[in-house]
Amino acid sequence: MKLETQLVTAGREKRYTQGSVNAVIQRASSLVFDSVKDKQFATANRANGELFYGRYGTLTHFSFQQAMADLEGGVGCSLYPCGAAAVSNAILAFVATGDHILMTGAAYAPTQDFCNKVLSQFGVSTTYYDPLIGAGIVDLIKPTTRVVFLESPSSVTMEVQDVPGLVKAIRAVNPEIIIMIDNTWAAGVLFRALDYGVDISIQSGTKYIIGHSDAMLGTAVANARCWDRLRESAYLMGQMLDADTAYMASRGLRTLAVRLKQHEISSIAIAHWLEARSEVAQVNHPALPQCPGHEYFVRDFLGCSGLFSFVLKKRLTDEDLASFLDNLSLFHMAYSWGGFESLILASQPEEFNDIRPAGKIAFTGTLVRIHIGLENVEELIADLDAGFARIA
Ligand SMILES: *Cc1c(COP(=O)(O)O)cnc(C)c1O
Repeated sequence: MKLETQLVTAGREKRYTQGSVNAVIQRASSLVFDSVKDKQFATANRANGELFYGRYGTLTHFSFQQAMADLEGGVGCSLYPCGAAAVSNAILAFVATGDHILMTGAAYAPTQDFCNKVLSQFGVSTTYYDPLIGAGIVDLIKPTTRVVFLESPSSVTMEVQDVPGLVKAIRAVNPEIIIMIDNTWAAGVLFRALDYGVDISIQSGTKYIIGHSDAMLGTAVANARCWDRLRESAYLMGQMLDADTAYMASRGLRTLAVRLKQHEISSIAIAHWLEARSEVAQVNHPALPQCPGHEYFVRDFLGCSGLFSFVLKKRLTDEDLASFLDNLSLFHMAYSWGGFESLILASQPEEFNDIRPAGKIAFTGTLVRIHIGLENVEELIADLDAGFARIA
């Protein structure tokens, strides 16, 4: 089945929809057993889709979990209240005191903070690596390395990683190492991480799955060797979401293919427009040849989403930066992305160095990150054009 069809049909078994089009919203903590025998059966089969207790999920969650596992080619999907919880709990499920992990130095900043401020407290050490290190990663693997964490493209600087190359090199040294990826940019579906040998594909469903900037969600899809441990750990750590959010997530899947297609078309058009501007030094859009790792994007991805960044030739003065951003009419300033609306955030190079201690910061101009939403492209360009005119 092609992706568009899969996104429409996934998780819609009759058991979950009970005859309607969408899965039912089953709000529950307690799930009632008819007999002692039923209770025993549900307890023994709680990992096999039997209704057991709210923290293990209800029909609404099972439908979405099934859909995500099918879409990403995994055995199961754990659910979390947000993407940060998915990242931290997936890592915690596989490490113990004395272990070491390898983390991409261009990871989402709170992921790096989790390593520095939480894992370190439990005696788990982190080494950051250059996202474009490739097979050179083997030199960083220690006997205690338990997890290698990827994120591709990187947050903000957008380097695309050679995932099959990394997987091959890591497995050749120690096949026991668990390889995880933050797959948020690809919405879990434009890059089929598990097909490339990654064990766990994590995403902030807050972004494209929810797609409307009105709820938060984290998902982690695991392969056969990691699923039992990931699932049990999520249960013991109390990681679950409410049935209403699980419903919103399933609803988001139904339009994900058409939304991603439009994010792709519009973001590429605007990236090309920016590339031709004299003020712009570099456009980091995975679909453009000047993006680091572009060749891996072409080789491995099925399409692209709407988030990218560009670097200006100059470091704008604080006044110019404010004049550019404060007066935009369609682009709003906010954290997060993946919704239907366009967003913009900028960082000065020196701020950037603070949040990315291990990333290679090879630029001196102001960096702007934009999410291209579903508005008309010409109107978005006119908004940016007026911004450039204000700082000319
Ligand atoms: C937003 C984001 C997260 C965290 O997700 P939340 O749902 O906000 O907790 C993790 N990784 C990446 C790449 C993100 O963009």
